Amino acid sequence: MMLTKLGNRFPRIRQRLAADFRLSVITMLCVPAAIAIGGFGVFRFLDGDLLMTVVDSMLVLLLISISACAWITGHTIITGVVLVLFTGAGVLAVLYLAGLVGLFWAYVDTIATFFLAPPAVAIPKVVLMMAATTTLGAKAGLGLLPLISYATTIFVVSVFAFSFARRSLAQARQLEELAIRDPLTGIGNRRALEEELCIAIARVQRDASGAGLLMLDLDHFKEINDRYGHSKGDDVLKKFAQLVTTHSRHEDRLFRFGGEEFVLLLNNVHQESMILAARHLQQTIRDRLSIEGQPVTCSIGAALAAPEDNWESWLNRADNAVYQAKNNGRDTVIVADSGPDRRP
Ligand code: GH3
Ligand code: MG
Ligand code: MG
Repeated sequence: MMLTKLGNRFPRIRQRLAADFRLSVITMLCVPAAIAIGGFGVFRFLDGDLLMTVVDSMLVLLLISISACAWITGHTIITGVVLVLFTGAGVLAVLYLAGLVGLFWAYVDTIATFFLAPPAVAIPKVVLMMAATTTLGAKAGLGLLPLISYATTIFVVSVFAFSFARRSLAQARQLEELAIRDPLTGIGNRRALEEELCIAIARVQRDASGAGLLMLDLDHFKEINDRYGHSKGDDVLKKFAQLVTTHSRHEDRLFRFGGEEFVLLLNNVHQESMILAARHLQQTIRDRLSIEGQPVTCSIGAALAAPEDNWESWLNRADNAVYQAKNNGRDTVIVADSGPDRRP
């Protein structure tokens, strides 16, 4: 609730929590645990228990530092593993120094471990923790029956946390994937394209390597839909994406810009190789893409990244070139002027 309110105030925080599942688990674990342990620390200080005050303060500091590290570096996998190794040590320290109250924290530690560490780390850690906490619990005077109850419940919690964490992580991965992939053709969507364009522009400006954009727009696609139906139109879009992918270089990346518009990003090209690639693709589509014997064609706008471009001006130049290709009668390649400052 508190995090939701905070998220409403700071959209960037909400965005990162929504986009990174592990970061949200780390935050949800560290913030309430630090508040709770901090409260215990104050109580123990007032009670005159200096040793436990120091232990609690160290745990709070550790939780805040690890959470801050995850936010700053973005390395949530390694931070998550470090966090659960420390929480395990913290549980054992509290159990050893303060007695049986430490067992309550073993449940929190077990659940956090399965959500934050990969199974290869989480399973051995939880098994070792079960053995260590049961032994320390017995030493701290827990009777046989409560000890069996503890061992049974921590085992049940472990199985539940393991399966639930796996499912949640798989779903989070699926959502991340869906956010950048076009469901019809399986290629990257507009969001993925924008990210790649930013990277490509940065590379062009850094090392002067050439990068080209081909904007490909199917000709008279509305008529295909109208004549053969939407589902046949979908098949044409899928086949088009397959053809462009198989007839371009391995390092070229195809994205669906929207509707029947696609963008092919060509890294390490110069003007001539970009034009050759565009003509080759256009010929391939003309020769191999058809619907019920009728050839399907596309218009292509090509733009080489200029040093003064940003990703939007680069994309705009390719888009304007497609527009000209349409005006020139379609099924043709138009190359954009070489920079945003030289546009008519
Ligand atoms: P032009 O040659 O000028 O590009 O004409 P066009 O008909 O290809 O272009 P227009 O923008 O008029 O129409 C695009 C059509 O693409 C309209 C829309 O219904 C169709 N479309 C967009 N997305 C999809 C899709 O996912 N599946 C199918 N089947 N059709 C789609
Ligand atoms: Mg079209
Ligand atoms: Mg279009």
